Formats: sequence, structure tokens, C-alpha cells
Amino acid sequence: DKYKEGLTKTRKSFSEKINDLVARYRKVDEDFFEDLEEILISADVGVETVMDLIDELQMEVKRQNIKDTNEVKSVISEKLVEIYQGEDDEEIATLNLQEDGLTVILFVGVNGVGKTTTIGKLAHQLKEQGKEVLLAAGDTFRAGAIEQLNEWGKRVDVDVIKHSEGSDPAAVIFDAIQAAKSRNADVLICDTAGRLQNKVNLMNELSKIKRVIEREVPNGPHEVLLALDATTGQNALSQAKTFGEATNVTGIVLTKLDGTAKGGIVLAIRNELGIPVKYVGLGEQMTDLQQFDPQAFVYGLFA
Ligand code: GDP
Repeated sequence: DKYKEGLTKTRKSFSEKINDLVARYRKVDEDFFEDLEEILISADVGVETVMDLIDELQMEVKRQNIKDTNEVKSVISEKLVEIYQGEDDEEIATLNLQEDGLTVILFVGVNGVGKTTTIGKLAHQLKEQGKEVLLAAGDTFRAGAIEQLNEWGKRVDVDVIKHSEGSDPAAVIFDAIQAAKSRNADVLICDTAGRLQNKVNLMNELSKIKRVIEREVPNGPHEVLLALDATTGQNALSQAKTFGEATNVTGIVLTKLDGTAKGGIVLAIRNELGIPVKYVGLGEQMTDLQQFDPQAFVYGLFA
């Protein structure tokens, strides 16, 4: 299916390397772990996460008295799932959608990561689920951003509330909320500008937008989703840190996972930042957005 297809690069690269490793080493020894460490780091799992994993593995190998490298394979996948899920054994992190009344979803992320595309895809998906969806063109800064969101609105047949370029994003969001209320919409998805160069501006703009939402919508915003580009590897991790300091991120959408062999970044994000990956982008079309399923992801790597 689409999910497997989208992860082909990561899966192929990872499973080939693991199988090769297992074939080269019969015995589980220091060198085996060193090579494994290298494979994981080259898949963007992240140094900190790899160290945690290797420690866990070594303990488990000792505990179960495993000698054969083939047996280690299944322990690796189990431990990867554990590392992803941490203490709470949540499975798939779903969106916090309100049963009654308006749900407001705020999208943040640097330009070019696939934020607009993801908003379009998510709007399409929610609409398919029977929800009345509205978009707010809150990126009034980047030239062309409003028009680009508008194009996506047309494509997925969802209205876009917009002002002119350069106007106050918080005012756009305010208007969009009023429109959503008067139409009895279920979900309002808000785009925002992705200027990371100036953290103070970014923080001010986001907190102003959040204040408007908090004032106008009970318990809003219900989600603050950060879009990250999987092909940028460790850079994505540092973006997540910066946005995490600027605002309260509730979930991550990892885009362009189809374009990289380094899907291990998913594990690093969860383990090092504690923010769940809620969706993954697996292509440029409106249907190329999937809920992230950690077990399917990890076991898929070893398939
Ligand atoms: P924004 O600046 O963050 O709003 O980024 P855009 O939504 O304009 O996306 C930038 C580029 O990435 C566009 O060419 C998109 O088609 C492409 N893109 C977005 N998501 C994905 C994805 O999941 N997979 C692939 N292959 N391309 C994507």
C-alpha cells in the first residue's frame, strides 16, 4: 500500500544493512554493536537515541543470553518500538478533535518544509470524514503564501479566509474564527508564517495568534502541529527544538518521508523531544498523508 511504498527508500536501505550485518557477524560482540551503531546513526536515528538503544540492547542480550545475531534482529525492533513509545504505551497519536463545537488546528514550521501541502492534505482527509473544514491564510509574510493556500483550498474544495499580504496574521485568524462559527464549521486549520531567522518575532506572532484563539474558542488551539521535512535530517530536529521553545507543540507532521532513506529521524524526534509524530507525508498528492503508526513503521523496517 501507499504507506509501505512511501517508506521504500528507508526500508530498503535499513533492512539491507541490517541483514548484511547479521550475515557478516555470527556472534554478538563489541564489533557487532559498533557496526549496528553506525547503521542507526546513518539512518538519522540520532546519536542520543542510538546510545540509549545500544545500552538497552546490550542489557537485553545479556539477560536473554543471546549469542546468535539472527536472534538479535527481533530484539532490535522490539526495543525501537519501546524507545519510540516511551513510558506511556500509546499506539497511534490521534488528533484532538472536539466532539462538539469548533476544533482549531494551528500549523507552524519553516518555509519549504511542506506546511501548505500538509494543510491541504489534512483538510481533504477531514472533509472525507464528513467534517466541515475551513482554512485561514495566516502566513501573510511570505510572498505567494496566501495564493498557494488558496490553490489548495480550490483543489480540495474548502474555503479559505484571507486578507492581503502584509496584514496582521492575528486579525486573519480572528476573522476566520468568526466565519467558522457562523458556518458551524467543525475544523479550522490555520497557516502561519515560518520565519525562524528571528525567534523573538516568531514567538510574538505565534503568541498573539494563540491569544486570539484562546479568547475566541474554548480550549483552543486544540492542536499545534509542527511540519518538519524528513529529508533535512538532524536539521529537522533542531527546528523542532526551536519551535518547541517558541510555542507549545502538540504534534509533528513529518513530510517528504518518501524522499529519504533516513526515516530514523522519526525515532529521534520522539525520543529526544517527547513530541509525538502524528502524521507523515508520503508524496505530493492530496491523499499522501497518513497517520503515523510506530509499530507498523518499525516492523516495516525489518520486513
Ligand atoms: P511550505 O513552504 O512549507 O508551505 O511548503 P510547500 O507545501 O509549498 O511544499 C514545498 C514542496 O514540497 C512542494 O513542492 C511540495 O509538493 C513538496 N512536498 C510537500 N510534502 C511532500 C511530501 O510528503 N512528499 C514529497 N515528495 N513532497 C512533498
